[in-house]
Amino acid sequence: MSETRHDPFRGNFVGGHFVPAIGDGFASHDPATSAGDVVTEAVADVGAVDAAVEAAQAALRGWRGAAVEARIDALRRVQSKVPAHQERIAQAITAEMGKSLAEARAEAGSIAGKIAGVIEQLPHELPRAGPGAPGEQRFHPLGVVAIIGPFNFPVHLLNTHVIPTLITGNTVVAKPSELTPLSGQRYAELFADADFPAGVFNLVHGLGATGAALAAHPGVRGVVFTGSYATGRRIREATFDRPGKKLSLELGGKNPALVLDDADLDQAVREILLGALLTTGQRCTATSRVIATPGIAPALERRLAAAFARVTPSPPTDPACFMGPLASHAARESFMARVAAGEGEGLKAIVPARALPGGAYVTPGLYRAQGGEATLSEELFGPHVAFEAAADEDDAFARAASNPFGLSASLFSARADALERFYDEVPAGVINFNRSTNGASGLLPFGGVGMSGNWHPAGSLAPRNATYPVAVMRAPLGERTPHAGLDRLLGDRPLGEIA
Ligand code: NAD
Repeated sequence: MSETRHDPFRGNFVGGHFVPAIGDGFASHDPATSAGDVVTEAVADVGAVDAAVEAAQAALRGWRGAAVEARIDALRRVQSKVPAHQERIAQAITAEMGKSLAEARAEAGSIAGKIAGVIEQLPHELPRAGPGAPGEQRFHPLGVVAIIGPFNFPVHLLNTHVIPTLITGNTVVAKPSELTPLSGQRYAELFADADFPAGVFNLVHGLGATGAALAAHPGVRGVVFTGSYATGRRIREATFDRPGKKLSLELGGKNPALVLDDADLDQAVREILLGALLTTGQRCTATSRVIATPGIAPALERRLAAAFARVTPSPPTDPACFMGPLASHAARESFMARVAAGEGEGLKAIVPARALPGGAYVTPGLYRAQGGEATLSEELFGPHVAFEAAADEDDAFARAASNPFGLSASLFSARADALERFYDEVPAGVINFNRSTNGASGLLPFGGVGMSGNWHPAGSLAPRNATYPVAVMRAPLGERTPHAGLDRLLGDRPLGEIA
């Protein structure tokens, strides 16, 4: 890991170069260490936002005007650089936010797959007009787009928006989480190494103030924000008087897994464990509620309790690591405070979550809930599952449907008709049938309803989200549109002679 420590901070990536930053310092910390050892000392330069937006504006005409093939060529150059950068990016992710190195490697490797997938899907996602339409249906880039990312997938959740936004002719200013500046820097290095056209992709570092300045910048025509509901709400408020700025929100979740009597118990247990505990529960799609019908609830609870009790977190660089620490010591404090608040309102520990020494480590918690507790509507963003034994199937569906968020939801059952009921009644942008709530694909839509967001700006529909549609209709030069009323008015006089 020494490779990642004290990697020099290179500043912001603006106009095709790393530019030294002037401003307040901030650092990323390794959550797998008890003192939170510094990984990178970065600088928040809010003034760089103006320079980055100007660079993106200057590059816009050339990039937008280039043939899509030229944009694809440039993106393929980035794709070709991924293998050489993958390990460095993965090491940075693990050092800064603590996910297992195996997960971090998968995240870093996904950059290349995303580029290939977006290129392949583009014709399907930006379709021509239907048969008989009297013109063309085109998709115009929005302009300069700000992409603001969270800490939990510090590279993927920039990349998954950056690629579709660029391919459709927009230019980008990205801002990584302040917890992960080194990961952001290493992502930008891919573009530097690929000689990507100057100013088309830019990246600025900073805290919330940098994100706020970027989102509110008058030169920014679209904002794609991935993060918490609270921050999304703030950006929405700050941009309220700019209705022309397209604000796309990918927010949190409180994702239920509904297990019916006819489910395969082994499968349900395994998928719930993956859903609840991968990335130490810090996924927007993490399973955080399990709702079971009476015929399966006791066995499911027993099996989950046994498994939860066996899971202990380990250092993320350990090849056998299943669950690393939380992303920071502050995240651990806030998680444990929310766990305690849940207990305060009556959640009973089946397996209690415990803070462990040596880093921001916690053990996973399984809690019995009655239904209606505030914790069932709050994202804890850690390995915490509320278990609800429903009175019957109707009650189980009603519980799953009562969710202010609506990102992902799982149903475990043998019956296809149960899936149709689930689709009909449970609010969710992603439904996983006999799969963990974490199941998602870049080749399908991704995004949530309710407090989970708007516009479904990720996944397969991302290129469409980065554009506005334009209808283009044409007439042959000189053709007159027939109109009896106008003909009667004009008679056979030439147009210029109307007095
Ligand atoms: P966060 O909201 O704290 O921060 C996200 C980003 O917003 C950071 O880059 C931060 O600097 C920036 N920011 C902070 N204040 C801002 C402001 N006023 N204006 C503009 N930008 C500002 O989120 P986080 O803690 O980094 O991430 C965890 C959250 O993200 C969870 O709620 C999780 O569910 C959500 N998330 C959602 C998805 C999804 O696809 N729906 C994916 C991953 C994470």
